Amino acid sequence: MAEQQTAAALTDQLKEFLKAFKDRDSNYKYFDRINNMMALGVPWLVVDYIDLDTHYPDLAKELTHKPDEYLGAFNEAVLFILREIHPDYEQEIGDKVGVRIGNYTVQKGLREINADLIDKLVSVSGMVVRSSEVKPLAKKVAYRCTSCAEVFDTQLKGLILKKPLKCPKCGEREFDMDPENSIFIDFQMVRLQELPEDLPAGQLPHYVEVTVMGDLVDQCRPGDRIILTGIVRIEQEQLAPQFKTSLFRLRMEGNNIEYLGGRAGNKDTRSVERIAISVEDERQIKAIAAKPDAYEKLIASFAPHIYGHEVIKEAILLLIVGSVSKKLEDGSTRRGDINVLLVGDPGTAKSEMLKFAAKIAPRGLYTSGRGTTAAGLTAAVIRDKSGIYMLEAGAVVLGDQGLVCIDEFDKIKPEDRSALHEVMEQQTCSVAKGGIVATLNARTSILSAANPMYGKYDPYKNITENVNLPVPLLTRFDLIFIVRDTPEKERDSLIASHILEIHRDVEHAAKPAIEIDLFSKHLAYAKQSAPTLTQEAIDIVRSYYMDMRKVESEGMITVTPRQLEGLVRLATARARLLLKDRVDAEDATRAIYLVDQMMRTAGVDVNTGKTDLGVLYGKPQSVVSKEKQFMEVFRGLAGTENNDVEDKVLVDELVKTGKFSNEEAKKYIQKFNREGQIFERRAGFWAKA
Ligand SMILES: [Zn+2]
Repeated sequence: MAEQQTAAALTDQLKEFLKAFKDRDSNYKYFDRINNMMALGVPWLVVDYIDLDTHYPDLAKELTHKPDEYLGAFNEAVLFILREIHPDYEQEIGDKVGVRIGNYTVQKGLREINADLIDKLVSVSGMVVRSSEVKPLAKKVAYRCTSCAEVFDTQLKGLILKKPLKCPKCGEREFDMDPENSIFIDFQMVRLQELPEDLPAGQLPHYVEVTVMGDLVDQCRPGDRIILTGIVRIEQEQLAPQFKTSLFRLRMEGNNIEYLGGRAGNKDTRSVERIAISVEDERQIKAIAAKPDAYEKLIASFAPHIYGHEVIKEAILLLIVGSVSKKLEDGSTRRGDINVLLVGDPGTAKSEMLKFAAKIAPRGLYTSGRGTTAAGLTAAVIRDKSGIYMLEAGAVVLGDQGLVCIDEFDKIKPEDRSALHEVMEQQTCSVAKGGIVATLNARTSILSAANPMYGKYDPYKNITENVNLPVPLLTRFDLIFIVRDTPEKERDSLIASHILEIHRDVEHAAKPAIEIDLFSKHLAYAKQSAPTLTQEAIDIVRSYYMDMRKVESEGMITVTPRQLEGLVRLATARARLLLKDRVDAEDATRAIYLVDQMMRTAGVDVNTGKTDLGVLYGKPQSVVSKEKQFMEVFRGLAGTENNDVEDKVLVDELVKTGKFSNEEAKKYIQKFNREGQIFERRAGFWAKA
């Protein structure tokens, strides 16, 4: 019995459903929502697909196959009900009314969108990687004939608007557009890309272009993870205005947008945990954490194929788990994310560690500082071939609420450098270009690796002279480690045998303490806990901080609250990793140990051999004291009248202090000249500026 339903009969049936449907608490769910549309000032209504499917399974099935017809009938039904209860509002919204389908269960993978689905309703999950500026789209364009003044119009078909050839009344070919009788709606293009976790290993992500209109415009931004419900459309590729090809491409026309895994302040959230942790997993995770050697085991499970580097592995684990971000009373937030930088010789397994971290971390992403897309690391505004401005998200936006591993950090583009300051402190990324102004979320931890400027790390130079990175960016890292390829015989043979063993017996040698799948789940699970800081831990961190300040107080650089926060973040991450309720003394002590390890390598001033936090700030104590000495000598020679100081005399006097070599003295003269503190008043003579 083929049901030949007329449009009117279908509308009646849907109207009946909307009016009569009661939820579990016996409320008229949809009638109430329609009744509220005017008060809320919205022209749309979300219909839960599961409600329809349980009451009218046939209708639900047909909706999938004939969405245009069914959504059209749904719109009519809503307007019909509105006409009965709020006729004025019905008049006001008319054309704009839209029924959206929520909780749609016909879900497809992004790579399953193909020609078989044309004009069908489907749901896909993905990440928004691009969004265009908002443009007015003509739904209907009206024309006025220049000779007889007849008004006639053309309707939009897909995205193509065909201009009429002649006036239907008199046949005239000249006519003007009549904006007053035309209908425009907001229009936006969005690109949805496969989620990294849905990506088959070694494959490039697929994407689909989505058009959204009316109220759906600006509902999602680059970096958002969404479930899009919409109709698959086909469109002829147009390479030039007058040149259509026989190539077609698929796009989706958005009907509804829901957010994956929650977005603050939005109720249309379908919370889907991407890493499913079963009850059995949870039991095993807790069992691991309860063992006395849990911490060592967890560290040993990180990149077991890489020999040594335990401290770095430990730091990376704490980074993956991270701390808890805090909302302060003044409304600002304190980041909970931990940032780590590895500086070292090429071939020291830095990249391997980054790749491993990206693989096991929830929402992990590996990228190069060179930038693989136009958007680079942060975000960019690009111009699409149709001329529309598009906002495209870079790695740190796509990695929102996750981990971004940036290899070749020293190769980042200058425009990314400045944007990264904002990302690493405020955890946002602002863009303002070509009519697009947006602030995107970039709440990510950053694990970076940088190569030394001259190929190999020079142990006789400080870190800031070894790596080509601006000091302000360096200070955004909680931990910096130097990974050196030191030719130590014993170590070499250990590494060699470790590698040989891996090749000999792949099964056993690289077998991690905790199996990788469970390890990954452990990290995801640990990320959900929020241990409280104990007074003990606070006291330990504070006294370390006070000691550091005391050492530093003679110089210009002092420990900033940023380091204090960094220690708290590390201690909290450790407690989380071990699934503890409280951040205790042990966690605080270990956090201090890690900072100490950094100070012993990256924080050593090679000029004095002492640890000095100033090294990481570009001005070690030794430089500060040399600068002081220089100015003292100079002032002594120039006197109160600011007399000219002869170059040769100045060099001699500086060398006499015992703090400068001949060469250094000359270097410092140039430095002070460059910084505008002294200038060459006449050839070979210096004066104070
Ligand atoms: Zn005419």
